Amino acid sequence: MKKQMNDRRIRGGLVMAALASLSVAAAACGVTTQQEMQLGADQAVQVNQQLPMVTDAQLSTYINQLGNQLAAQGARQDIPWHFYIVNSDVVNAMSLPGGYVYVDRGVITHASNLSELAGVVAHEIGHVEERHSVQQLERAQGANMGLTLAYVLLGRQPSGVEQAAIQVGGTAVFAKFDRGAESEADADAVTLTTRAGISPQGLPNFFNKLMQLRQGNPSVVAQWFATHPTEEQRIAATQQLINQTVPRATLNRLQTDSKAFQTFKARMARYPAPPAQSRTQ
Ligand SMILES: [Zn+2]
Repeated sequence: MKKQMNDRRIRGGLVMAALASLSVAAAACGVTTQQEMQLGADQAVQVNQQLPMVTDAQLSTYINQLGNQLAAQGARQDIPWHFYIVNSDVVNAMSLPGGYVYVDRGVITHASNLSELAGVVAHEIGHVEERHSVQQLERAQGANMGLTLAYVLLGRQPSGVEQAAIQVGGTAVFAKFDRGAESEADADAVTLTTRAGISPQGLPNFFNKLMQLRQGNPSVVAQWFATHPTEEQRIAATQQLINQTVPRATLNRLQTDSKAFQTFKARMARYPAPPAQSRTQ
């Protein structure tokens, strides 16, 4: 009994020592790619358990092919990318550190063509490329940062005080990005889609659609607007970037739609309805 208590104390001491040095390391050199991947992988396990994921193999294959086609045009070839569809009517998308991108079914339902879906996926890839979530973690207070990294490095389910601190880390990941981060992700999306041979025009087009949806069916897009500040000015900036960087002749040559996208969208429409808590109407 006494030995057990001693063991526990020793273990506690080791964890505290590890946390202290981790906090210093984190402050000094930031989150490494290895830590970023581990953090994303751990969070993805939780997300995939908690959200209603679309499990159809053909739908998963399509979103992963499209996502990888876009991610292959970017700067982060050092991480493996993973793309998921969440069986929810809302129009939203999110990303986790380390290359995990989630698209809600509602995005596919409301995307008229390939370029609109590609724009949203590329925007989320942009957040990962720019390490926006990682930067938020790095800005977090030292103690929380250390605990988050401890979770990453210890590779086990944390408990007690650790759990509470990781919750802080999790909140940081899902917190909305500021306008600067959104602009960066938009610019990346324009680059990635264009390089992938897909029209970047899908992004501002889809943004305009979201603005219209907000008028007529606000609950469907409430999460989007809560996590991705979007307004006329941002759409205009994206449009201006396209006009300035993509020559008209190139734009006309780029792909707007594909038969594969329409087949995918039709298959998605036949997929079982979202569970009740993921419906908006
Ligand atoms: Zn965003």
